[in-house]
Amino acid sequence: MAIDFTMSAEQRKIQKMAREFSENILAPVIPASDKEPDPMLAYQKTKGAYIEAYKAGIAMAMLPKEYGGAGLSCLDYVIACEEITSIDPGFACTCLCNGLGLMPVLWYGSEEQKKRFLGAATSDPTGTYLSAWTAGEPPGGTGGTANFDSPLPKAGIGMTAVREGDHFVINGKKKWSSSPGWDGLGTNTQTAIIRTDSSVGGTEGLSAIVIERGTPGITWTFLNKEGHRTTSNAFVVFKDAKVPVDNLLPGAVGNGDLVINRNFAWSGPVAAIAAVGVARAAYEDALKFLKKNTAGSLTPIIRFQNAGYIMGDVAAKIESARYFAWRAADYLDKHSQHAELIGAMCKINVTETMIDCVYKCMQIVGVNSLSTEYKFGKYLREASILPIYDGGNMGMQRRRVHGIIADENFNPRAIMDDDFVKFEKSMEAIGTVADPVSKSRGIMQAAE
Ligand SMILES: Cc1cc2nc3c(=O)[nH]c(=O)nc-3n(C[C@H](O)[C@H](O)[C@H](O)COP(=O)(O)OP(=O)(O)OC[C@H]3O[C@@H](n4cnc5c(N)ncnc54)[C@H](O)[C@@H]3O)c2cc1C
Repeated sequence: MAIDFTMSAEQRKIQKMAREFSENILAPVIPASDKEPDPMLAYQKTKGAYIEAYKAGIAMAMLPKEYGGAGLSCLDYVIACEEITSIDPGFACTCLCNGLGLMPVLWYGSEEQKKRFLGAATSDPTGTYLSAWTAGEPPGGTGGTANFDSPLPKAGIGMTAVREGDHFVINGKKKWSSSPGWDGLGTNTQTAIIRTDSSVGGTEGLSAIVIERGTPGITWTFLNKEGHRTTSNAFVVFKDAKVPVDNLLPGAVGNGDLVINRNFAWSGPVAAIAAVGVARAAYEDALKFLKKNTAGSLTPIIRFQNAGYIMGDVAAKIESARYFAWRAADYLDKHSQHAELIGAMCKINVTETMIDCVYKCMQIVGVNSLSTEYKFGKYLREASILPIYDGGNMGMQRRRVHGIIADENFNPRAIMDDDFVKFEKSMEAIGTVADPVSKSRGIMQAAE
């Protein structure tokens, strides 16, 4: 069928199931988790809901049926995610991180690895299985994540894996990796981007390795953060951690850069719909408030022109943002789960528009939006995370868009015409601490 925004009966069922889970099982646990000052305890307060999500097929919904997942298309996944994120985007992030950890196995792993890792992820009788995505590194020196594709050997990802016989010996530090596990001793698996060749830059020397829980030499610490408090992030230290060479994803050898770009673009529409979910919740709460309260006038606030105009604008932006997220997910489904361009554009545009919508709702509600009696403070905290996380809009997502559109052969009508935009290594490194252009100006030499 040509362009048609009607949900299928199956999609309505998925939406209904996700909505019922979110309203009945998730919503009751969120206030206590969000208020809990200790990040590990906050995370643990969501464990019961996670087990329910796992049993309902939500936690591993993105994995194909053939490996035990729910086999949702990217579009169906995004439809479900809107419901969960409208209640709590932090919890949704816990589920999303399973995808960030496991989709690289699906894309770049051998058949044996897919059966081993994806099979285990989808058949845990306890329903507590977690996977993590371990790309980010602490800032300072050449640390940080944004310049992972710098062509300089000494810049970008600093964690190293050195082969010794049938093992890699891993050393380094990672920050913001999803979750130290429910007990602080690690997730069941984590897929880490590691420098396997230190003599070359990030476009050639990075690979992806799956690291299993219980590997000696790894310590985890929970990070404390301003929003998404119901999910967890880790500071991870690797000291001579030995990992079997069988855990190296063969398709990702020397292509860890491509894994990062593909993964953070796959999750782009999910981050976008998270922003839609949060803004939708703020809009609905604001509308209720404006219809019930007069601010000392003789009419409900919604009768004031500024309130009606602004809320109408907010509603329109949320609608258009939702369609953009659907379209980017649809593009992923049509193009072998590649959306390096539109995934980034969608994430940037939607997350940055939606945070403004949340704030506009607060302005129109007025001073009472600041009271903890309402949820606007939480909405603003959550909305502010979305442009910053999941491959920051500034140093990672915009830079990828820049690299693609600056390419000589870029077709500016590609997305409109639904053409495949092939992401190439030659599109990387733009704007890094030493990109090919800065090299010609001698800046690279200075950095070396
Ligand atoms: C809730 C949550 C979940 C997360 N989950 C994960 C996860 O599962 N796994 C994981 O690895 N990470 C995770 N992260 C981290 C997240 O993905 C970050 O976006 C990522 O680590 C990169 O951070 P950054 O974009 O701020 O880059 P940084 O390297 O910290 O850069 C900082 C800033 O420097 C500037 N900058 C640096 N270089 C450039 C450049 N070349 N061009 C332009 N600007 C530049 C930009 O303004 C950028 O924002 C998570 C974070 C949060 C909050």
